[in-house]
Amino acid sequence: MSEEMECMCQQCGVSIYMPADLISLEDPANTEVKLLSSIHVCENCGGQLALVGKAGDEPYYRLE
Ligand SMILES: [Zn+2]
Repeated sequence: MSEEMECMCQQCGVSIYMPADLISLEDPANTEVKLLSSIHVCENCGGQLALVGKAGDEPYYRLE
């Protein structure tokens, strides 16, 4: 069974979950912003998605 990953739309901020093995990064060398390649876009607005982390993990932006 594949791990679920959480991705966030860069335009509307909606969270989308997808299996890790479906995810391909646009620029794997960029470790700061993990943008998904354009085969995955937001279902809501068509915006670009960024990888947040594993589903269920506390996203980095909520940690203080
Ligand atoms: Zn969106």
